[in-house]
Amino acid sequence: MVKIDQEKCIGCGSCSAVCEKVFEIGDDMKARVKKGQEKSKLPCVKEAIDICTVQAIKA
Ligand code: SF4
Repeated sequence: MVKIDQEKCIGCGSCSAVCEKVFEIGDDMKARVKKGQEKSKLPCVKEAIDICTVQAIKA
């Protein structure tokens, strides 16, 4: 399961930039996993994990 720790997320937008099919920035300016993408195995999920400077993404 792809998950985002909302407490850690600083809303930088990097995850959605590298993997827009899976991540989006919500109205609260925190990243979230798009509906139906929680089990995504797309390679860009790993990219997003690597690029997140606060290690907020787990998969
Ligand atoms: S890359 Fe990390 S800190 Fe930036 S929006 Fe995504 S989850 Fe939040």
